[in-house]
Amino acid sequence: NHIIERGDMDVKQPNILFIMSDDHAAQAISSYSGRINETPNIDRIADEGMRFDNCFCTNSICTPSRAVILTGQYSHINGVKTLRDELDGRRQNVAKLLQRAGYQTSIIGKWHLGHGGNSDPTGFDYWSVLPGQGEYHDPVFYDMGVKKQYKGYATDIITDLCLDWLDNRDREKPFFLMCHHKAPHRPWEPDEKHAHLYEDIDIPEPETLFDDYETRSDAARTAKMRIADHLTETDVKATPPEGLHGKELARWYYQRYIKDYLRCIASIDDNVGRMLDYLDDEGIADNTIVIYTSDQGFFLGEHGWYDKRFMYEESLRMPFLVRYPEVIRPGTVNKNIVINTDFAPTFLDYAGESIPEDMQGVSLRAIFEQGDLENWRKSMYYRYWMAEDEHCVAPHYGVRTERYKLICYYGPGLYSDGS
Ligand code: CA
Repeated sequence: NHIIERGDMDVKQPNILFIMSDDHAAQAISSYSGRINETPNIDRIADEGMRFDNCFCTNSICTPSRAVILTGQYSHINGVKTLRDELDGRRQNVAKLLQRAGYQTSIIGKWHLGHGGNSDPTGFDYWSVLPGQGEYHDPVFYDMGVKKQYKGYATDIITDLCLDWLDNRDREKPFFLMCHHKAPHRPWEPDEKHAHLYEDIDIPEPETLFDDYETRSDAARTAKMRIADHLTETDVKATPPEGLHGKELARWYYQRYIKDYLRCIASIDDNVGRMLDYLDDEGIADNTIVIYTSDQGFFLGEHGWYDKRFMYEESLRMPFLVRYPEVIRPGTVNKNIVINTDFAPTFLDYAGESIPEDMQGVSLRAIFEQGDLENWRKSMYYRYWMAEDEHCVAPHYGVRTERYKLICYYGPGLYSDGS
């Protein structure tokens, strides 16, 4: 255990292992659902820790969510509103503050907040990140700015690099490791090991696969992310059998899509297991906060869609599982509304570092320690800015309470230049 003195109080600084995948919907984690797949290793985190059922992102798209997590600020404060924006590395971020608190810090895998100049990671003692979206097979990494290509599958390689870094860490200090998987982001390319999983079965369809949008806003009708109409043969790596039309064709596309998506997740699950085993073998599991999350949710055929962006539940909800054996009771479920701005303040709280006033999130420490809290936020704010994009999701903002949701599609998008 790493103990530091702060004033007249000793602070025990836990290690923090933050595992985040890209576009992994909660409904594709068996701890949350179990309807379409099994994720035994990710479930270990929930079984031995806390499952958050109402964790939401404030802007459901890759780049902005990552910036929110690092800064503890909403997109309109940290400046990263769309996929076109980059995070200015000169800004304050949680890694810099954890370094100041004595942590060794590292980020390995997907970054997606810009490349070069002021956009490379800052606050990390070590970083090795994929450029842009990165590749599934034989990916190139920028290792402290130096280009390196690795043979193999991205999810395995990211895990290998994380385990190497952990093995070579300074054991006198606590660590903060962000393990960021590329998977299961489009184009959903599985590895060889899982390529034939689900081959002989049909994955259940969601109830709203054939949503007619009759009771929904125009934004739902005009979005271009329908499985039936907008997935391509490239996406599903096959040509539809002749003679398939209408619903049967949509069903064929759904099966092709969801199986590759779930195969990518099977690989993540195996690799999460490797990370957890490492902590056990090192004897540091009790003093390590382990988090599994994803940068946002995803549509797995609900409302006929793939992708994210909308403030609808499937896209808004982030899976968020936390294990910290010294503090969190095993097998607990939390229903409080928590958001991705809260992650950074939580880490700082446990590090004994003060939380800057311009971080808008709230530490989750009290929830970890006490479970569901009465005295907690009752609503959350959301905003999606992008409009000029292949999926044509109308920009919108909204508020969600424990019971209701109000979404306003306000018209033309606001771009990163404010136009
Ligand atoms: Ca994403």
